[in-house]
Amino acid sequence: MSLDFPKIEEKILRFWQEKKIFEKLRKKNQGKEHWSFLDGPITANNPMGVHHAWGRTYKDIFQRYKAMQGRELRFQNGFDCQGLHVEVEVEKELGFKNKKDIEKYGIDKFVEKCKERVKKYSKIQTEQSIRLGQWMDWDNSYYTMSDENNYAIWGFLKKCRQRGLLYKGRDVVPWCPRCGTAISQHEILTEEYKEITHKAIFVKLPVINKKNTFFLVWTTTPWTLPANVALAVHPELIYAEVQDKNRDIFIILKEKANLIAEGKILKEFPGKELKGLVYQGMFDELQKTEHRVILWKDVTSEEGTGIVHIASGCGQEDFKLSKEFNLSVIDPTNEESRYKKGFGFLTGKLVSQVNDLIFDNLAKKNLVFKIEDYKHRYPTCWRCKTELIFRLVDEWYISMEKLRKPLIVVAKKIEWIPSFGLERELDWLKNMQDWLISKKRYWGLALPIYECSCGNFEVIGSKEELKEKTVKGWDKFNDNSPHRPWIDEIKIKCSKCGKLVSRIPDVGNPWLDAGIVPFSTMTKEWFPADLVCESFPGQFKNWFYSIIVMSMVLENVAPVKTIFGYASVRDEKGEEMHKSKGNAIWFDDAVEKIGADPMRWMYARQNPEYNLNFGYKAADEIKRKLLTLWNSFAFFITYVDKKDYPSQVLKPKPKDILDIWIVSRLNNLIEKVTRNLERYNVSVATLAIEKFFINDLSLWYVRRSRRRFHAGAKDREEAIATLYYVLLNLSKLIAPFTPFIAEELYQCLGGEKESVHLEEYPEPNKKLINKELEEKMIKIRGITTEVLAQRAKAGIKVRQPLASLQIKNKLEKDLLEPIKEEANVKKIVFGKELKLNTKITKGLKEEGVVREVIRHIQEMRKKAGLKPKDKILVQGYGIKRLNKILTQKKDFIKKETLAEDFKIGKAKTKFGLEKELKVDGEKLKIGINKL
Ligand SMILES: [Zn+2]
Ligand SMILES: [Zn+2]
Repeated sequence: MSLDFPKIEEKILRFWQEKKIFEKLRKKNQGKEHWSFLDGPITANNPMGVHHAWGRTYKDIFQRYKAMQGRELRFQNGFDCQGLHVEVEVEKELGFKNKKDIEKYGIDKFVEKCKERVKKYSKIQTEQSIRLGQWMDWDNSYYTMSDENNYAIWGFLKKCRQRGLLYKGRDVVPWCPRCGTAISQHEILTEEYKEITHKAIFVKLPVINKKNTFFLVWTTTPWTLPANVALAVHPELIYAEVQDKNRDIFIILKEKANLIAEGKILKEFPGKELKGLVYQGMFDELQKTEHRVILWKDVTSEEGTGIVHIASGCGQEDFKLSKEFNLSVIDPTNEESRYKKGFGFLTGKLVSQVNDLIFDNLAKKNLVFKIEDYKHRYPTCWRCKTELIFRLVDEWYISMEKLRKPLIVVAKKIEWIPSFGLERELDWLKNMQDWLISKKRYWGLALPIYECSCGNFEVIGSKEELKEKTVKGWDKFNDNSPHRPWIDEIKIKCSKCGKLVSRIPDVGNPWLDAGIVPFSTMTKEWFPADLVCESFPGQFKNWFYSIIVMSMVLENVAPVKTIFGYASVRDEKGEEMHKSKGNAIWFDDAVEKIGADPMRWMYARQNPEYNLNFGYKAADEIKRKLLTLWNSFAFFITYVDKKDYPSQVLKPKPKDILDIWIVSRLNNLIEKVTRNLERYNVSVATLAIEKFFINDLSLWYVRRSRRRFHAGAKDREEAIATLYYVLLNLSKLIAPFTPFIAEELYQCLGGEKESVHLEEYPEPNKKLINKELEEKMIKIRGITTEVLAQRAKAGIKVRQPLASLQIKNKLEKDLLEPIKEEANVKKIVFGKELKLNTKITKGLKEEGVVREVIRHIQEMRKKAGLKPKDKILVQGYGIKRLNKILTQKKDFIKKETLAEDFKIGKAKTKFGLEKELKVDGEKLKIGINKL
């Protein structure tokens, strides 16, 4: 029987839809004990990829499992809608290059385009998820752009204001010149650092009042040199004055003295002796300021000269030092990263394009020591990949100092799976800076901050409050969503001075949008959630972080009990998938080529701590595994008519040793699977099921029991009852993992509910577990493996019967049967060691021949497409010796092959299927006809 996954899946999808199975499941569990899952919103900005399907598989497994256990669930999916990622894609669509293009086009039209894009892709992602088999209440998905969500964040921000956590800060921050906005520390993940080669310059800075003496300074950002205000040296490290052959003296870290060719060390001293020395600035004609040496313990000897160029308006550390040492601050760039007025030949130029101008200028002043290429890891914009710069700006922040400790306490109360999740979260919480929440963009949460020129600022906490405080512009805003540009029409009165104030133009960090969802989407009775399940790279700084912070501020508790994280999807070779690299696999292609169930199985069996290498070869391997399960099932429906299926309320009371064993194994499996699913150990549960249906069911139980299913076999009924019980339970057990095959199996077996997904999840029956027998079976299988190895060594085919086998273990009689059959021996005796009697007598030889012939006839039956009950006519013809054997064993062969007659001798007519075989080294012709 072939297995076309996508075809079966389409059929089952139609069945679920027509019969409203999901709706029936929800109805069935209504009012029962809750299980609360909180969905992390997927960015509705592109079709979903195979990496999304990994997480969605987990979510679906957990939810289906809990629903089968009779718990009531919300089944709410979420879409992340607002933010730079959507803006950048819309900009691409419209062919825009920068913010000016957007403003020319109109913010209102641009924002509408962003909304449209979100609607389009949330619809596509919904269809894709349904195709994956994910069950959600799709008509009730939440959207972070919704009014409820935005106003809920207003409430949060107001609370931050009341608690004194919200402030406007002037700081140097990472800035994307193209996007024209600050990039929060949270958004710069390790993958945003790229290997980039920059020009590095060594500059000579003349020390004032010391003839021919220079500080030697190194930098990889020459554009920041016009903003230089100080040099930093380490107080304890040893510096030196090094004289070159031109009698110029350079001050430099002693261990870097070899930078000076043929240099001679004149003097050594600790850095602190340099404190307060003043030097001549490089661009004093542009920005006049004092330049002096300061002491700083973070100076290292790793790169450069040990003398660090400090540009207070262009670096985060530099800015901090400017406050500590009361240095002047030179702020050279505008939003587009062009030099502001007052920078002479540089004014209006992009900082990314001024290297040569600066080098020429410094060369004319004779200040260049050396220029070289320097390769290093440098941060880029997570959205548009432009190299970031550091810029001094006013932005809005949530202070973390007061929250840090309680956040750590809350993070520890959450159960993290894998357990290293806690360490990663704590590492972030301990080191994070204040949360930069503003962005100078268009499509996003409108920060409800109204700042007055008198210094006062107000934060509005709800739509009602806004309406109440509005003095002007409500009519223009009224029916619109709380987004730019409509919200910006509103003016309120400053509560301190009475002036009319507008909203600051900034929008919010998108992690505010996603962080509020425990409150904007769940009512009290569902809070806190039992489970959150997301891919962990990035989330410790982002979603996990933002839900914890917002929940802490609002309720002072953790928003979730357990956070389950998983790694990333890579290509088959373990490399990152990229559109540009050509190794990306689209979900739509994958699901139609592989099928949803094999994909789900691949995801489910993966250890979530490690990256998953996804590809078609790996998928074929998975399909082969699932085919083993399918084949056991196909065997059953081939040999058993529907009318012979046992009654549905099956209480197995097996007597046969193999039946007792497989029933025991199954109950053991159920116990293991449920125990692991309770702990969210999906991969352990999946692999246990896989091992069961390959090793126990297919390779042992079904193989050893084939004969018992033949018509007229004496315990056929019991064999049928047992296998039916196993398969039916298996269909329920795999239902959360592979919902399509599970349904197909269940329907074919005639399960009593309308769908397997309306069944209860199996519970183990401990009384049916027989540990002792399972252990003995392991021994038996060990013995047969050993015997097969001895046969192979002696060059004796398995089909050749042998007289006896000696084994060490004393075993009960019914346990000897399987060994006898597997080892194909007549008799078993007990002795000191495992020993196979390899002597082949004439009688045994003849029996071997007969077995060989039977096997060939069976294969021919199969090839001719005959059903087990179809009768055949056989004709055989070979050398005299073979003919004689066949004649003697004619009746036995007839019985075994369901042949009506077996004629020996040359055939007069042509047979439906003819074959020339080699049996015991001689030619033998066999023909069969269906009767
Ligand atoms: Zn950017
Ligand atoms: Zn005021």
